[in-house]
Amino acid sequence: MYTVYCNGSTVGQELLNIKYGYSNRRSWITGRQKILYALLFIGCPWFKERLTDIVNILHLTQWHQQINKCIKWIENSLKLVTVCNFMLFLNRGGYINIIERLLGIQSLYPHSQNIRQVSFEFMTRELLWNGFSEFLFFILPLVNLQKIKNTIKRWTNRKTENIKTLCQRSDQDLKSCAVCSDWPINPHEIGCQHVFCYYCLFSNYKADPGFVCPLCNYGIEDETSLKPVELT
Ligand SMILES: [Zn+2]
Ligand SMILES: [Zn+2]
Repeated sequence: MYTVYCNGSTVGQELLNIKYGYSNRRSWITGRQKILYALLFIGCPWFKERLTDIVNILHLTQWHQQINKCIKWIENSLKLVTVCNFMLFLNRGGYINIIERLLGIQSLYPHSQNIRQVSFEFMTRELLWNGFSEFLFFILPLVNLQKIKNTIKRWTNRKTENIKTLCQRSDQDLKSCAVCSDWPINPHEIGCQHVFCYYCLFSNYKADPGFVCPLCNYGIEDETSLKPVELT
């Protein structure tokens, strides 16, 4: 409403570079028209919302039922008129809603329109990238990235440390997770001397059942071999 008062167009119209005006007289919306527009646009819904209060203030409670019926009737007729107006708009263009038709204002271009120059090279590139990104968004969730990452890691990191028994575990092994190298949170083990965070181990195992210890390539036989570390 404020933008209509200042510029003679709503925010959406301003984005589209159009303004309210009279198509036959070739002039823009006047101050009086703006006030009428505000009254119809804000006043009518406000009146409807505050009807009960107004009726109470004016001590017309005995007429309340009749007034309500009247308002309902007006509302229904307005809906019908709106539909008719919209049909007319679709058929001939011009006034989108009843308020515009009542005031005789239309959305017009302030400047005459030039023929649009479309760069087909740019448009094709844009369409191509759009299609490509949509394809990627569709395909990415279907790819098990964790499994691919683990396979590549195993492939590049073939050197195998001697697998030590659990008794040979050093203090250093207990202090760092074999996956994230941080202090292990809720430490778990798979059978080698290394220790894993609960999250690091289970997220890797769930994504890739062929997960092996990244430090010594010790394999997991089944889920029962994933156990919490017992500190004695
Ligand atoms: Zn970890
Ligand atoms: Zn290990």
